[in-house]
Amino acid sequence: MVHRMVEAMSQLQEEKARLQEELAALQERLALQDSDQQATSTQLQNQVENLKEKLISQAQEVSRLRSELGGTDLEKHRDLLVVENERLRQEMRRFEAELQELRAKPVAPCVGCEHSQESAQLRDKLSQLQLEVAENKGMLSELNLEVQQKTDRLAEVELRLKDCLAEKAQEEERLSRRLRDSHETIASLRAQSPPIKYVIKTVEVESSKTKQALSESQARNQHLQEQVAMQRQVLKEMEQQLQSSHQLTAQLRAQIAMYESELERAHGQMLEEMQSLEEDKNRAIEEAFARAQVEMKAVHENLAGVRTNLLTLQPALRTLTNDYNGLKRQVRGFPLLLQEALKSVKAEIGQAIEEVNSNNQELLRKYRRELQLRKKCHNELVRLKGNIRVIARVRPVTKEDGEGPEATNAVTFDADDDSIIHLLHKGKPVSFELDKVFSPRASQQDVFQEVQALITSCIDGFNVCIFAYGQTGAGKTYTMEGTPENPGINQRALQLLFSEVQEKASDWEYTITVSAAEIYNEVLRDLLGQEPQEKLEIRLCPDGSGQLYVPGLTEFQVQSVADINKVFEFGHTNRTTEFTNLNEHSSRSHALLIVTVRGVDCSTGLRTTGKLNLVDLAGSERVGKSGAEGSRLREAQHINKSLSALGDVIAALRSRQGHVPFRNSKLTYLLQDSLSGDSKTLMVVQVSPVEKNTSETLYSLKFAERVRSVELGPGSRRAELGSWSSQEHLEWEPACQTPQPSARAHSAPGSGTTSRPGSIRRKLQPLA
Ligand code: ADP
Ligand code: MG
Repeated sequence: MVHRMVEAMSQLQEEKARLQEELAALQERLALQDSDQQATSTQLQNQVENLKEKLISQAQEVSRLRSELGGTDLEKHRDLLVVENERLRQEMRRFEAELQELRAKPVAPCVGCEHSQESAQLRDKLSQLQLEVAENKGMLSELNLEVQQKTDRLAEVELRLKDCLAEKAQEEERLSRRLRDSHETIASLRAQSPPIKYVIKTVEVESSKTKQALSESQARNQHLQEQVAMQRQVLKEMEQQLQSSHQLTAQLRAQIAMYESELERAHGQMLEEMQSLEEDKNRAIEEAFARAQVEMKAVHENLAGVRTNLLTLQPALRTLTNDYNGLKRQVRGFPLLLQEALKSVKAEIGQAIEEVNSNNQELLRKYRRELQLRKKCHNELVRLKGNIRVIARVRPVTKEDGEGPEATNAVTFDADDDSIIHLLHKGKPVSFELDKVFSPRASQQDVFQEVQALITSCIDGFNVCIFAYGQTGAGKTYTMEGTPENPGINQRALQLLFSEVQEKASDWEYTITVSAAEIYNEVLRDLLGQEPQEKLEIRLCPDGSGQLYVPGLTEFQVQSVADINKVFEFGHTNRTTEFTNLNEHSSRSHALLIVTVRGVDCSTGLRTTGKLNLVDLAGSERVGKSGAEGSRLREAQHINKSLSALGDVIAALRSRQGHVPFRNSKLTYLLQDSLSGDSKTLMVVQVSPVEKNTSETLYSLKFAERVRSVELGPGSRRAELGSWSSQEHLEWEPACQTPQPSARAHSAPGSGTTSRPGSIRRKLQPLA
């Protein structure tokens, strides 16, 4: 038992030692835990302290930031801007007022000048600036809004920070309270630990209690640690928030700086523009002023001139007023005067008209009498002048005349007398006197001038014959027809008739007709007819007037030169188709152009008819009897017959014989009307100038002179012709000596006509 007791005792002892060991370990662990806890709490305290410091510094930073860039600075800036804005607005208003003034100032002269343009430009600029200012204002208000928002957000952040700090302080307090509790618990635990050797049970109990407390404290510790971690987390978040707020602040600052610089720039620009505007305005004002001064000066000068003018005008005005008053008085009496004057003028006019009427009647009577008188005078003139005139025309030497002695010139002229022609025939000089001699230099117009008067007499109802006489090749056709470029008498005569008729168109109505015929071998043919071969007969008019007419002879009415040309062409074509050798044929036939001019006097109804016969005679060269036979001889005989008949008729007419042998040839018979009575005849004797033709030339000139001399028939003149009557060789018989004119040995009678002292050239005195 004791043993057991001792055993139990030793066991208890062991147990006690173990427990004591265990207690020591526990105490040790507790102490360790204690120191650990203390370290942790100091650490925590340090951390809290740190956090507090950080919070304080953060608060300081926030306040600094607030003071630095918060509301106050921005507001200040905004205020400054508002003030600046206000100033600008005032300035603008001032400018506007000035502008208005300027606009009101320039008067009429400035309208439309360059200043209005300038001011319009300035106005545009101003409105632009105003727009910019409005824009800036908008920007400014936006900035203000932003700043306001930021300030609000900052305040919010601060509030949240404050809340956090408060929460933290509470937490801290709670933690320190709990720390204190744990210390107390630990202290109480320490105080509680009783001596184990005394009460094991107590120890046991206490040990379990301690164990429990330990676990509790451990749990508490755990909880505390969790809370600290949480706090750390919160702190971290806050730090992050702080950082982001820092960034935001920096961004805001940068933005504000940007806005400031922009504002400054805009302000500078505005200032510059305002300055330039100001300068422009000043310049414009100065220029306008200078111009106005110059204009003013001019106006002053004008005014002075006008004043002086006014002074001089005043007396004139006074006299004008007087005149006007006088005129007014006169005008008042004018209608009466006018009526009287009108009455008297009407009476005068009536009288004058009556006088004019009677004068007109008288004039008409006189005119008719004059017309009769003129015709009488003309008849008398024709009677005195003789109805036959003879002129000679010498053609120039042509290539056809050849060369050598035969082609030398044998014709000369008198320098003082244009009616004399000298011919050197076989070495002897022979002279002739005609009415006129045309040298080779004479133009177609010169010749026409000579015959012009005859042609116009046609219009007055006279019959006219113009013959071209001479040997073949002497220029008959050239004188009558001419060339297309240089027409002869035929065409010029018709042109003249047209123009004369046109001149008289107011009083007379004329019709001009043309016929063309040829006489070959005593046969008459119509050159304008459809049947040119048909032989035409000359008959007496059945009306018993004794007039002749050719039934079937074509008559064309012509009104213009173009018409004549057509007629001539037609005649020419007829002749060309009819005869193979036209040149030869035409030299052996007589070609006649018969122009009839019929007129009616519009006032009297008097009718006139004039005939113009233009005859290109056959060649006058004589063909030797021995050298010609057959048809050529027959041709020569016919030509000689008709030319002799022409000579006989002219001779009979000139010597005023009772019987004129018109019927001896077709030519004279056809021209009977135009050769007798008060008709007029012109013979153009064509002459070749060359040596080889002198015999024919001599013959032609003798014929011409004989024809001319015949007219001096009656009275004393007749006696002068006595010497000519014996000249047999000039009788109208064919000479028929040699076939070639140049080879013919025909001598001039005696010493030639010009050498004859009795030879006279009749010169007509114009009738008064
Ligand atoms: P005719 O009719 O008498 O036989 P032409 O009239 O045929 O003669 O004339 C013969 C030539 O002489 C023609 O070539 C013509 O052109 C020319 N002739 C005639 N007279 C003149 C003149 N006055 N001027 C120039 N040439 C002329
Ligand atoms: Mg001819």
